[in-house]
Amino acid sequence: MLRKKILSILILFLFVFSGCKAKGYQKYSQTRLAMGTTLTVTFFTEDKKKAKAIFDEIFLLANQLEQLFSSRNPHGTIKKINQQSQYTLSDPLLLTTIKQALKIAQLTEGAFDPSLYHLISLWDIENQMQKKDPKIPLPSAIEKVLLKTGYQNLLIKNNQLFLNNQAALDLGAIAKGKIVDQLAKYLDKEAISDYFINGGGDIAVKGLFGGFRKWKIAITNPYRNQEFLGVVNISNVAIVTSGNYERFFISNNQRFHHILDPKTGYPANTGIDSVTVIANDATTADAMATALFVMGEKKGLAFTENYPHLEVIFFQKKQGIITMSHSSGIQASKQQNGQWSFRLKE
Ligand code: FAD
Ligand code: MG
Repeated sequence: MLRKKILSILILFLFVFSGCKAKGYQKYSQTRLAMGTTLTVTFFTEDKKKAKAIFDEIFLLANQLEQLFSSRNPHGTIKKINQQSQYTLSDPLLLTTIKQALKIAQLTEGAFDPSLYHLISLWDIENQMQKKDPKIPLPSAIEKVLLKTGYQNLLIKNNQLFLNNQAALDLGAIAKGKIVDQLAKYLDKEAISDYFINGGGDIAVKGLFGGFRKWKIAITNPYRNQEFLGVVNISNVAIVTSGNYERFFISNNQRFHHILDPKTGYPANTGIDSVTVIANDATTADAMATALFVMGEKKGLAFTENYPHLEVIFFQKKQGIITMSHSSGIQASKQQNGQWSFRLKE
């Protein structure tokens, strides 16, 4: 009798924790290098063969999309576009992405700006950060190059892109999100219902972990990169974190990082060190994370409240103390271990 009872409890336990999924429903996960960062794809399926085929296909797709969007690729489309003042956008994905980028530039009044190619090249943060004695551009050089920026200089008519006043494209703050969204679409098409895709901090999650609980996404501590400040419990959304703690150099005790304020031409300096954005798709979340970093806490929180499917978590130091603030659609609680636990309000 007792054995029977234990057995039925065990079966019930397995049933609940397997989320009623088929036998053999298990986690598959792979990480590879892509877009100058790591790309992790994790999903659940009961079909081992299918899992292998999906990995082959999805990383191939990621490579193709990287070629399309990269401004570093010397033979890539972005390089070609930037050499001209008018370009026919024959790739529909590139066309929609640039349209989306321009829309977000308008909404954020240029805090996110896809026309900063010349400014980004001038700072060249990624190369400078490898050097012993990194160079800060001269103010006169910044002023000069700013004349060649400004999203108003990018115009789309049908599939024609016009680049006025020598403006040039850099999609580095939105393309990672777009690639993650495309990979998510592929998994949807393959009828994978529980997955996690992480392209260097640009994350899309669908369904549930193992079919039974929300995905737990950690937010890196910007002051100690190996640690976390909090965990966000989410499902069926995208979550993107942008910060000043990975791509930067120090000169004269000052940090120069890769998120630039398009108005000043210098790294955004609002006190914010990390921004996490939750949105319906990773493209929006990526661009908005950059924009909200540039806007800073006060303006950023007010901006976010205008959009029901946009949420933000900011971390900064105030008088040396790590301080968190968040938009009204997020519920936050401090755990015993000192970390924050976040979820979206229902
Ligand atoms: P985000 O805030 O999302 O973006 C910051 C980046 O956007 C900056 O680096 C700059 O390019 C641009 N930017 C800065 N300020 C603004 C602004 N106000 N508005 C709009 N844009 C702004 N890195 C490598 O080291 N090697 C590679 O080979 C490489 N290949 C890449 C290929 C692709 C297709 C993409 C999308 C990125 C690639 N990267 C590469 C870049 C790397 O992954 C970047 O760090 C990343 O794109 C920036 O994302 P983020 O989340 O760190 O910051
Ligand atoms: Mg971004």
